[in-house]
Amino acid sequence: MSKIIVAGGGHGGIVAAALLAKGGLDVTVYEKNKREDMGYDWTDIFNRHSLKAAGMDMPPEDKYSVKTDVTFYGPSERNPFVQRSPKNQPEIKMERKDIYDHIIAYAEQYGVKFEYGVTVKSAECLGNRVVGINTDKGTVYGDLIIDACGCNSPVRRSLPYSCGIQRDMGPYEKFYCYRAFYNRINKDYPAEEFKLTLFPHGIHGIGWVMAEGEWADVLVGKFEPFQKGEVKEFVDYLRTINPIIGKKKVRGGQYAEIPVRQSLAVMTADGYAAIGDSAFMTIPLLGSGMANAFKAAAILADVVLKDEAKAYSRETLWEYQYTYYKKVTNTCAPLAALNNLLVNITPEQIDGLFECDVEAVRQKISKLNKFTEKDQVKDFLEILLILKNASKDRALKAELSTSFKKIAKLSLLISQMPKTYSENEVLSWAQKYNRIFKL
Ligand SMILES: Cc1cc2nc3c(=O)[nH]c(=O)nc-3n(C[C@H](O)[C@H](O)[C@H](O)COP(=O)(O)OP(=O)(O)OC[C@H]3O[C@@H](n4cnc5c(N)ncnc54)[C@H](O)[C@@H]3O)c2cc1C
Repeated sequence: MSKIIVAGGGHGGIVAAALLAKGGLDVTVYEKNKREDMGYDWTDIFNRHSLKAAGMDMPPEDKYSVKTDVTFYGPSERNPFVQRSPKNQPEIKMERKDIYDHIIAYAEQYGVKFEYGVTVKSAECLGNRVVGINTDKGTVYGDLIIDACGCNSPVRRSLPYSCGIQRDMGPYEKFYCYRAFYNRINKDYPAEEFKLTLFPHGIHGIGWVMAEGEWADVLVGKFEPFQKGEVKEFVDYLRTINPIIGKKKVRGGQYAEIPVRQSLAVMTADGYAAIGDSAFMTIPLLGSGMANAFKAAAILADVVLKDEAKAYSRETLWEYQYTYYKKVTNTCAPLAALNNLLVNITPEQIDGLFECDVEAVRQKISKLNKFTEKDQVKDFLEILLILKNASKDRALKAELSTSFKKIAKLSLLISQMPKTYSENEVLSWAQKYNRIFKL
């Protein structure tokens, strides 16, 4: 029986483990945390249909709620845009610990084994083939290593360069976050349920405040690591524009990083497949990665179970990457092509966008579909196009034009992705793909 190792208890890795064990394979997940410490102390929003796509039932109804409206502000806090969330839309909000309970129960039901408290150090390779993982408890060998260690995966980072898999992220590809829940004060203050400010206080990043019962859920994030004292200053500033945030931290208070870039150009090697954040599967700019990780799990399990020769080679695993790109990256990657805009746009230009009184944009935002990721990305790009045409700011128009040209190139390139694996073709394709996102 094939022995599958899942390095790190990432969401996609655990769900792939469940599906592979269901298909009769021997699967073990190696996770550095203790079971009770898995998952951050906060809530996540994701598309409920992704659970079904990976064969899972919905969690009990008292474990989730439907996502609320989001109100977007520019740095000067004028002229907000409201994104409505109809009650029948598919995005749900759930405690991350409950998400873990749900997926771990799913995996255990099919016999997946979990080794908690094991830190993975690196990939164990024989030539170009990944044959195991080196951990603080010794080396374990397997026929296939599924890398679910997250965006800073030590497995991906230690692969031989000749595998053609990018080890690290570049500038503006990673978002550094701090998230904490504070006591909620001024309960009568008419706060928006979910308020998101772009470039608050001139910081190249975002600040959000979700009013949730007794709590004010605060997230601050930017494209560079926080220096000492910076988070306090950031949260203090948010207090001045959100009078509901109290001083007492009641939950959370954790730092984390999110990939906000295109997914890996090559995510498989002999004996290796990356999934979830370790393959940068989050929706670029938005940073949501849960639904894509679940979808990837279903694709990966399908491809692995079809490999009757149990080769788990670059050739047989390529179908995983190919299908994922056709089903998901094709839709999401255009947002990553807006990276030049992110780097160059100024807080004043953002304010300018919020102040440009384009009825069409407000109408569009108030009616956003939000039913699939495809709709979300399509709507977002349409809004940018309307703004580009309406804006009188020449520099901004030029940046937006550059982004739209990149997006057109990208769609063409994804349609030309090699369908079957050939080293030269794949590496040459990957080079062209990565070049599109170069700043
Ligand atoms: C502040 C914040 C808010 C977010 N909000 C949302 C949201 O609302 N909706 C959404 O869809 N996504 C959200 N995301 C993104 C989401 O967390 C990820 O995209 C998703 O969890 C998929 O990542 P992953 O499970 O592959 O990786 P991770 O969540 O990073 O999990 C990796 C796992 O591997 C383990 N691990 C890491 N290194 C090692 C090692 N060396 N040895 C052993 N184990 C290891 C970790 O302990 C962890 O269990 C958010 C992320 C952050 C940081």
